[in-house]
Amino acid sequence: TPAELLRNFCIIAHIDHGKSTLADRMLQLTGVVEQRAMRAQYLDRMDIERERGITIKSQAVRMPWAVDGTPHALNMIDTPGHVDFTYEVSRSLAACEGAVLLVDAAQGIEAQTLANLYLAMENDLAIIPVLNKIDLPAAQPEKYAEEIAGLVGGDPEDVLKVSGKTGEGVEALLDRIVQTVPAPVGDADAPARAMIFDSVYDTYRGVVTYVRVVDGSLNPREKIVMMSTRATHELLEIGVSSPEPHPTKGLGVGEVGYLITGVKDVRQSKVGDTVTNAAKPAADSLGGYSDPRPMVFSGLYPIDGSDYPVLRDALDKLKLNDAALNYEPETSVALGFGFRVGFLGLLHLEIVRERLEREFDLALISTAPNVVYTVTLEDGTEVTVTNPSEFPGGKIKDVQEPVVRSTVLAPSEFIGSIMELCQQRRGDLLGMDYLSPDRVEMRYTLPLAEIVFDFFDQLKSRTRGYASFDYEPTGEQTADLVKVDILLQGEQVDAFSAVVHKDQAYAYGTMMAGKLKDLIPRQQFEVPIQAAVGARVIARETVRAIRKDVLAKCYGGDISRKRKLLEKQKEGKKRMKTIGRVEVPPNAFIAALSSD
Ligand code: GDP
Ligand code: MG
Repeated sequence: TPAELLRNFCIIAHIDHGKSTLADRMLQLTGVVEQRAMRAQYLDRMDIERERGITIKSQAVRMPWAVDGTPHALNMIDTPGHVDFTYEVSRSLAACEGAVLLVDAAQGIEAQTLANLYLAMENDLAIIPVLNKIDLPAAQPEKYAEEIAGLVGGDPEDVLKVSGKTGEGVEALLDRIVQTVPAPVGDADAPARAMIFDSVYDTYRGVVTYVRVVDGSLNPREKIVMMSTRATHELLEIGVSSPEPHPTKGLGVGEVGYLITGVKDVRQSKVGDTVTNAAKPAADSLGGYSDPRPMVFSGLYPIDGSDYPVLRDALDKLKLNDAALNYEPETSVALGFGFRVGFLGLLHLEIVRERLEREFDLALISTAPNVVYTVTLEDGTEVTVTNPSEFPGGKIKDVQEPVVRSTVLAPSEFIGSIMELCQQRRGDLLGMDYLSPDRVEMRYTLPLAEIVFDFFDQLKSRTRGYASFDYEPTGEQTADLVKVDILLQGEQVDAFSAVVHKDQAYAYGTMMAGKLKDLIPRQQFEVPIQAAVGARVIARETVRAIRKDVLAKCYGGDISRKRKLLEKQKEGKKRMKTIGRVEVPPNAFIAALSSD
């Protein structure tokens, strides 16, 4: 298809504003998915996406649409809407010339609407503002059209009003896309350059890489080069998705499609990388490529220690499809053998954990999530700490922690309560704007460590669910942080070490010591539980000794029942973890690590 007849666009929206449903309607109206094959959220393929109703992996679909008798080809790129996947969102946006900004007509603008809009504006996309769900009785299209026009400029009258559910207004939206999104421009005679905006591992086809051609063309059987690594591959297949794969004779300027090279690991086909032709390579890559950087770490351990090899294989398999997943083996005194795993954010952590449990039938325990600290010692050595128990003691010159720039949107009646929460979490107010007389946007700088815990839950409960929240990493800051260790009879229990702000050390220490006191069974001797910062004990609890014979309960009854009980106790003993002389049932650690 000649470039002037192409339109590449994406839909950006806050979660649940109806992006997937609208995409479904477009597939139907353009005839690429037959009525009978249609099922809700057609493009959300992973089970977990369908159940949670979120889009994790973006997909591209080509749809025909004629305006005034001229057939055009629309490429719709479905972007993941969540903050954890901002990098993927920004790459998907870079593959487009236009964006449909979709807003729920009963909710108005939310935090992710803004975050995605700003990303789209940074990429110079033409923005088409659209109000969705106008079929809802609670819809207030006039009110929110004003809000949107105030944000993106233009006349409230020009804001399109659609319903992804009934299909109302969707044809007019497709026409508007053809009329206002610019056609792609590129140099057809230049060496090929295509940007990778997604890559997905498929059991049957290997890695399927989604690209947007900027200059030149890519053709089957050619040798291609990944510019960041210089790795060469043969192009086994190239084509377009609509939405099932259709092989083509090649992809030219502005076209969006997939390619298959036979590689088996998505990290060989990196999002953001540039693909060129080996015989006639481009001099410069398209730029903007960066490796996904894990922001949040957690220890993952199988509850049953013999599942360790299963967990290792499962992580290896997930990695084939998740370039951002990153892990290494780790041993813990309390939890045994496991892995320290790096994630893009909390949702990423939750999704990975859920997939491990569901798809590989594993029962797992994870340590409290922590961020990455850069510690400079007094002699100038720099240490990167991804596990709190490895936080160096003694002579520390400086500790850097990651910070984020965050946006909270909420009804203005909650301003006071939100400010209080952000202050407790060491936030700095950057600014505040009213979107309308009763809705406010607040911008804060916050330490990432302060939001990985339960920030979002707190925010929701303080605002009765009306606040939305989004953030992006903005670098690091010096912070007054200390490591709190938890000791059982003088022995450090590694899984409970935490790096916290100096003012929070006492609260964390008393909370953990108290929890463990209730969970550790009484022993033949007294067991002190201490929380310490370096050599200084800041909290202490004691599990008192018992004398009682453990078999004393086995009075009466028949002898075989008694024997069974003894057998069972022996079993139990084997699985006990021993810290020093203290025997702890593994469940106690698991219970202490669970947040509720
Ligand atoms: P996404 O998270 O933006 O992809 O949103 P979904 O497409 O998954 O939609 C979220 C919820 O809103 C689902 O329950 C949809 O059925 C519902 N929904 C989406 N579009 C409409 C609409 O136009 N009208 C109504 N009444 N409900 C809608
Ligand atoms: Mg969706």
